[in-house]
Amino acid sequence: MTPSDSALQRKLLLAAFQMPAVATLVSRKSSITNAFVNTLIPQIVPSLEEIEQALKILGMDLADVRCAYCGDKMTEWDHLRPLVVKQRPTGYISEIGNLVPACGKCNQSKGNSSWREWMVSTTARHSPSARGKKDVAERIGRLEAYERWRPPTKIHDFEAILGTEEWAAYWRAWEKINADLRECQKVADDLRAKIEKALPQQLRGVVVIPVDLRTSLVNVVRENDFPALPLQDEPEDSSPI
Ligand SMILES: [Zn+2]
Repeated sequence: MTPSDSALQRKLLLAAFQMPAVATLVSRKSSITNAFVNTLIPQIVPSLEEIEQALKILGMDLADVRCAYCGDKMTEWDHLRPLVVKQRPTGYISEIGNLVPACGKCNQSKGNSSWREWMVSTTARHSPSARGKKDVAERIGRLEAYERWRPPTKIHDFEAILGTEEWAAYWRAWEKINADLRECQKVADDLRAKIEKALPQQLRGVVVIPVDLRTSLVNVVRENDFPALPLQDEPEDSSPI
């Protein structure tokens, strides 16, 4: 094996391995926010005629409904306009005009992004453009027609409906849960440090990079073998709802 072969081998090995993401207590913040909003939002059940119209506008074969974003097999219906932006409700609700068939990969990847920007993004992980889908422009056209189909229902002022104090109390409860989780994470970090010290002798060469509280990843790196791997931030509000 020549030196360049071994350099290539090293590169391939580094690319082949990925430490599983660890969901820390604090990395669940966006999931908690989505749950706090989703549980309040009205769900309007569509009529069969509306389902038929929706699928027609999207150009779907009734016997083989596909993801409106990428064309893969449909597994769920996704909110076209996000329910949560910047940790607060947008006011959009669950109704067929704001839902499109999607695959799990697109739903996960899109999260609470604006659908058009996400579809054309080549850097968003697993977006249709990043995955090299060829008919993105045509799909965008169909989704634009879908948006024109009917104006979305939007709750403009939650405070006006619920009262300022009741609405503020709800978000104080949200903040308390997040504060409790941050405290629990500190305890968990101490516990993990003790567990790491108790690891068997043969694992002593393993370096554990402490979890940054803003991240959901723990990188375990073998000394002298791997360069320092960058910690990745969980995108804000990334959990699909
Ligand atoms: Zn898809």
